[in-house]
Amino acid sequence: MRGWSIGIIAEVLGRSDTYGFNRLLHNHTSYSQVRVFPDSGQDSYSRNRYQTCSTRFETESQRPGICIDCVKEDIDSLGFPYWRRDHRYVNVCAKHNTVLLRICPVCGKDISYHSLGYGHDLLWGGCKGRYIHHYESKKNQNEGQLIFSRIFAEIGESKLSFDLESVLAHLADGAKKMAAKGMIAEEQLVAINWKIECSRRISDTWLDYRPDVMYTRNIIEVIATVYGSFAGLVDSLRVADKLVRNVDDLMRIEYRDRF
Ligand SMILES: [Zn+2]
Ligand SMILES: [Zn+2]
Repeated sequence: MRGWSIGIIAEVLGRSDTYGFNRLLHNHTSYSQVRVFPDSGQDSYSRNRYQTCSTRFETESQRPGICIDCVKEDIDSLGFPYWRRDHRYVNVCAKHNTVLLRICPVCGKDISYHSLGYGHDLLWGGCKGRYIHHYESKKNQNEGQLIFSRIFAEIGESKLSFDLESVLAHLADGAKKMAAKGMIAEEQLVAINWKIECSRRISDTWLDYRPDVMYTRNIIEVIATVYGSFAGLVDSLRVADKLVRNVDDLMRIEYRDRF
């Protein structure tokens, strides 16, 4: 979804001020994955043109995913299910450890093309008289996938943001110590350092922003290896006295980035 579309939603909700727009981005788009790691030149949460720009904050090219257990819980608690932003970018549900559906369990069609609007109607309208919650979920057996999903969720819910350069230096240092202790092989250390280098592009959001293989996948995999969780990284950054900022405060700051 592009910036100007989100701007229209913010206006309809009466939240088109800087804070309201940024809150909408943080809570309902995957931009939080990027914004939790700003570069040192970015002081405001979003940059100047975002409310009217064509930058994508959600990538519809990422296939939507459905967790059958989330759908069942939604129906019990709310009476209707809703789509989750994170399920586009991960393979299992961080809450239920359920393998996400990418195809319709009734007709086998790719959910993205199931009906108009990227197949979003499937969740509410069902297919051929059957609904998602009529089906049983499948548990994930791959621990790495679950850890990845959990870290993705933790970043999206983070109330804190961290200078990207400091985080990458901290991760490199942590990996080096692990290698010195023999906890990871030399080849793993080389792979980690390569992923850290790739992660330098995370805050480069001038064109399209895509929290997929190009950006956050690498940093999450490194966090998983070195700290096992995002909370573990945050704790380690605090112990090392690295700069930690409150996301909510940054959302109130008008654009004044330095270039
Ligand atoms: Zn779930
Ligand atoms: Zn179908």
